[in-house]
Amino acid sequence: MKIKEIRAFEIRTDPKPKTQPRTPSRAQTIHMNRPMARYDRFPNGEGHVSFAPWKRPAVLVTAEDGTQGFGMSLYGAPVTAIINEHLGPNLTGENVMATEKLWDMMVRLCSAFSPTGVTSYAISALDVALWDLKGKLLGRPVYELLGGPQKDKIFCYASGFDQEWYMELGFKATKLFSPWGPEHGLEGLNKLEELVASTRETIGDNVELMLDGWTAYDPEYTVRLAERMRPYNLKWLEDYIQPEDLLGYESIRQRLPWQTLATGEHW
Ligand SMILES: [Mg+2]
Repeated sequence: MKIKEIRAFEIRTDPKPKTQPRTPSRAQTIHMNRPMARYDRFPNGEGHVSFAPWKRPAVLVTAEDGTQGFGMSLYGAPVTAIINEHLGPNLTGENVMATEKLWDMMVRLCSAFSPTGVTSYAISALDVALWDLKGKLLGRPVYELLGGPQKDKIFCYASGFDQEWYMELGFKATKLFSPWGPEHGLEGLNKLEELVASTRETIGDNVELMLDGWTAYDPEYTVRLAERMRPYNLKWLEDYIQPEDLLGYESIRQRLPWQTLATGEHW
């Protein structure tokens, strides 16, 4: 079976809440520190990609028999352009079942401008759509095609600033984002410690707590922060520096051999 058509388009996915919250979310008053916050023109996250006019990119891959696979990722217009103007035309006519070959082709098709960064979001949306299509053609769930079920249940966590609510919902792990970064100096670090300490008190000692820097720290700040947070038993520290700073990762790992570090998704 061959690929007949590949079509990408932008869709709006922001859901309207069906019920009003009993208490307002702290997301209205506490803001995650962003990589651009160190420039004075962007104190509250302006300049971040979520302020761009892009919707979500979606892609439909149609097989010769009319069966369709659906995939989505992030960063609308640039991603749909890469799919519609480059990847799609080059993959049309290929074997729909050749998922690994098609992935290799996509990576090579993008070599000139790198298959990482925004390009990886185009490859990802198409890869998801191809797996969805393969599952539909075989009449099997994709997790089976990937070798599963691999486990009976998954340990989940809730991210944000409303930990009382997450505990009420029964989560046994939660992740905080960092409202302050290196540009807020020692005062910001003190405020961050207060937030982590009060959150630990709210959730108790039997719930895992993580902290996410959303790529806005630097190596020096990351080390200092991790040492300061050690009494609060963080399960991991996440996305602490710019994703391309490989030497930074190396130095942080050497200086914090005891801290579990989570990263990679932004790269
Ligand atoms: Mg992350």
